[in-house]
Amino acid sequence: MTNASPSTIKGTGVVSGVAYAEAVWVRPRPDLPTAGEPIEESRRDSEYDRFLEAVDIVASRLEQRAAGADGQAAEVLGATAGMVKDRGWHKAVRKGIRAGKSAEYATVCATDKFVTMFEAAGGVMAERTTDLKDVRDRVIAELRGEQEPGLPLVEGEAVLFAADLAPADTATLDTAHIKALVTELGGPTSHTAIIARQLNIPCIVAVGARLREIESGELVFVDGAVGTVRLGVDPAESRKAVEEYREKAARVAQWRGPAETKDGYRVQLLANVADGNAARIASDSQAEGIGLYRTELSFLSASEEPTVDEQARIYAKVFNAYPHSKVVVRTLDAGSDKPISYATLTSEENPALGVRGLRVARDNEALLTRQLDAIAQAAAERGEDAPTWVMAPMVATSTEAKWFSGLCRERGLTPGAMIEVPAAALMADTIMPHLDFVSIGTNDLTQYTMAADRLSPQLAYLTDPWQPAVLRLIRHTCVVGRDNNVPVGVCGEAAADPVLACVLTGLGVNSLSAASTAVAGVGAQLAEVTLEECQKMAEAAIDAEGPTEARASVFKVMEQFKN
Ligand code: PEP
Ligand code: MG
Repeated sequence: MTNASPSTIKGTGVVSGVAYAEAVWVRPRPDLPTAGEPIEESRRDSEYDRFLEAVDIVASRLEQRAAGADGQAAEVLGATAGMVKDRGWHKAVRKGIRAGKSAEYATVCATDKFVTMFEAAGGVMAERTTDLKDVRDRVIAELRGEQEPGLPLVEGEAVLFAADLAPADTATLDTAHIKALVTELGGPTSHTAIIARQLNIPCIVAVGARLREIESGELVFVDGAVGTVRLGVDPAESRKAVEEYREKAARVAQWRGPAETKDGYRVQLLANVADGNAARIASDSQAEGIGLYRTELSFLSASEEPTVDEQARIYAKVFNAYPHSKVVVRTLDAGSDKPISYATLTSEENPALGVRGLRVARDNEALLTRQLDAIAQAAAERGEDAPTWVMAPMVATSTEAKWFSGLCRERGLTPGAMIEVPAAALMADTIMPHLDFVSIGTNDLTQYTMAADRLSPQLAYLTDPWQPAVLRLIRHTCVVGRDNNVPVGVCGEAAADPVLACVLTGLGVNSLSAASTAVAGVGAQLAEVTLEECQKMAEAAIDAEGPTEARASVFKVMEQFKN
């Protein structure tokens, strides 16, 4: 793209695609007030009236937006308006004001009380606390005469800019208007990235403080594949690039599996799911089966271990979505960022390096065998055409692989392991002989290879799945897989990136499993390259100095294929 002086700001691209539109900042949440001076007794009634006025304005604004929206967006806005008008909450605010608190501070205290109650109730109630805080922030901004926080109303097209996005900000996000997301913080596995992947719009995270240099209203060109936000670019060329991207998106929508490269090399494309509902959604996509069923996500709010029968019923819902295809079930990956009350140690200094995944079962084998019994029970009716594979998370040694494999085989299950600890990749030749397959978890493999917390926005430049160090471990695993005749899959976020998926195929990966919304993009991209081209892309990435260089040199190699 040419221009006198376009300036470029770089972040981590997490969903590819381009957009050219005005930047619109999500308005920040207000700073919360502290106690301050008590309100004089004579002014307390009018202070409460001031609160009620703010409540009316916020509720009617939300109702107006609900009336103009439809489907889930209208429901969310209507429900939020309902919370603003909640009498119990008003009563708690009134009590605070009568005790001398300002309307703003009484709003904070009353909300805190409800948040504590909802958190104690757990489950769906606990999930509502973000919405309660959202309501609190809107009312406080109104009381102060400030702009309403959160998503601004967008009429034309816009690129949404934010420090980071909360679930409440994204519930009503309309892709007819919002064409891309760019955030200062976040990482490849943050909420923003997950939402962008679901909505399938270009997304860049972890841009850092320089993003603040761009103001609402400025025209920006966003490229999610390389992670750049550019100002001052030529409008005609930008629009042409967007047009080409839209044509490509249309081709993706038309793409039908099963996946193969231009020269007919088959790559199995599978879906990552968390429960039966996600599995049903996946079965409507082009995913051939399930490559990662994260069982622990069904039990995050369970206080007691479900019985074998209860578990079997939960797993059967996932199997039923794919009655004639492969399903890979992962045993409980409890611990670290997924604590499960009945399985995880409560206090660990360093939980990501602690007793998580398969390690939990070392002192509690029965927890694992009950889960395997439940999986075997749920899979009992599945036919020859519907293989059930079971893999353990966080395997680090051949002893662990052998132990897990024995427990699976005793129950007639096909055993495998995730390769997500660098030691497992390096020692793959000792681990694979015990197993029938492996699946590389690039999210954790990157975290542990780079010694960088996958949840840290400051370290997103390290937790990039394009890190050549990670790609080298993947290449080694594929070589050992081929020698041992053990299929090697990838089920981390790396498999959702269409160009990186070609690199992985070139490295020798046999199957790719990603969010079901990403599958068609990967399949369409694979159809445009040959196996030999994938191998050249893999070489270019492996030889690069870092992730940015790897992307750049792979894109350069791809340009050469076109000529
Ligand atoms: C991974 O680590 O890449 C993976 C697929 O597992 P999770 O993201 O659930 O840790
Ligand atoms: Mg993992």
